[in-house]
Amino acid sequence: MTEIEHWIAGKSVSASVADLPVFNPANGEQQAKAACADASTVDSAAIAARQAFGKWATTSPKRRADILFKFRELMLTNRGELARIITAEHGKTLSDAEGEIMRGIDVIDFCTGIAHLLKGQYSQSVTQGINTYDIRAPLGVVAGITPFNFPAMVPLWMSAPAIACGNTFVLKPSEKDPSASLLVARLFKEAGLPDGVFNVVHGDKRTVDALLVHPDIAAISFVGSTPVARSIYRVGCDAGKRVQALGGAKNHMIIMPDADIKQAAGALMGAAFGSAGERCMAISVAVPVGEDTAVALTEELVPHIKALRIGPGDSQDVDMGPLITAEHRDKVASYIDAGEAEGAKVLVDGRKFDSNSSGFFLGGTLLDQVTNKMSVYTDEIFGPVLPIVRASNAADALELVNSHEYGNGAAIFTRDGMAAKRFAEQVLAGMVGINVPIPVPVATHSFGGWKGSLFGSAAIYGPEGVRFYTRLKTITERWPGSENIDPQFTFPVLHK
Ligand code: NAD
Repeated sequence: MTEIEHWIAGKSVSASVADLPVFNPANGEQQAKAACADASTVDSAAIAARQAFGKWATTSPKRRADILFKFRELMLTNRGELARIITAEHGKTLSDAEGEIMRGIDVIDFCTGIAHLLKGQYSQSVTQGINTYDIRAPLGVVAGITPFNFPAMVPLWMSAPAIACGNTFVLKPSEKDPSASLLVARLFKEAGLPDGVFNVVHGDKRTVDALLVHPDIAAISFVGSTPVARSIYRVGCDAGKRVQALGGAKNHMIIMPDADIKQAAGALMGAAFGSAGERCMAISVAVPVGEDTAVALTEELVPHIKALRIGPGDSQDVDMGPLITAEHRDKVASYIDAGEAEGAKVLVDGRKFDSNSSGFFLGGTLLDQVTNKMSVYTDEIFGPVLPIVRASNAADALELVNSHEYGNGAAIFTRDGMAAKRFAEQVLAGMVGINVPIPVPVATHSFGGWKGSLFGSAAIYGPEGVRFYTRLKTITERWPGSENIDPQFTFPVLHK
């Protein structure tokens, strides 16, 4: 059976305290075992990163950009192979896997020009003969802990900006689909990245716990579920680290009575069922405003959901692949059971889907008459299940979104500019879509939710990523000869 090893100081390293099973979700078979790093393996990775830091931090931004340009080219050339690796371990369709790679490459694009954002500011003659300037310095060794649902894109959200800013990086990818990170590591090396600048340790909570307290690690970026994000933020901050921890989501889409229902339903199909709903920006609640809107929307959605083509992600003409594991598929199905028992109407029942295989499949599901007390509404399900909560007016719909624990994304579909503007201004969510169901910001902006969807003050990638991965140093200088310097024993003041 294939063994998935760590990547430390530019080479494969086998050291493991446990074998972590990696499945092919399309047939249910274990296809590999990933190593699990303990504290001593984490230490080796952190030391490799620390040793590489001094030279990398003083490498010119131009030289760093040259390597990132080459890396970008290699990612493009190898995207087919990377997509196959992602599909084999995650289950998503090949086109969806390529989509996430392209979004990751967008972040690399941004990072090739990061020198522009590392420039400091300069003030001449702040007082007689004194100038002040500031620089943004890298932090040192930084670590990234990533979820299963975007095994290439999310590691690139972190590693590309961190490395472009002059830091060195230790990645702990999801143990469920760890192989994509190793191809990325090889491509970084082929692009000319010095050994030790990008390292990968595989593992689970044991590995994360060691990263969180390692004295050489200055900052932690985490993306995953909210309970883990909350705990990582607390433990990482207690250990004196800078932490950004992005958590789970329940993204609402409001459909106003004046919306184009066909367009809204089409958008919902991709946003709720794409990647089998395993996206942190998936629409996981539809909120039609008014009874007529609700009826029109369900009539439009039901046949589309019944017609979803479900199968192995590497097959042609498949809309939706399997879920990540058997346990996760069963958990998602148990939410449908709970919703039904609590009074939701099951308009399309994914539990009835028969794949004729041992893969972790579940069909698309539509639940109507859902209330804000039901677990299918309160919890993040992370599967192909769309609950509909009917609202009688726009104010109630907004109140529903704003009362939810999560605040990652939210969308409104309407033809009314004022309604859209009010929604965008008043909704408590970090990313807002107006007739756009999945408003993931492009790489020149930054990604981050509000409330239980983000712990810490910095969103990820884009300008916020640069701020997170650098620290400000302000230098005040005076050179002999500019004026007589007499000793002063009072607090220095600016002379007029
Ligand atoms: P997860 O929280 O189970 O795991 C994420 C990472 O944390 C993995 O590397 C895992 O090994 C590690 N981990 C798991 N349990 C841990 C523990 N108790 N202590 C320390 N580390 C632990 O998340 P997942 O199931 O891999 O991914 C799905 C979740 O990620 C969803 O909640 C989804 O919304 C969220 N997500 C959020 C974003 C975002 O940008 N906000 C993006 C993608 C995914």
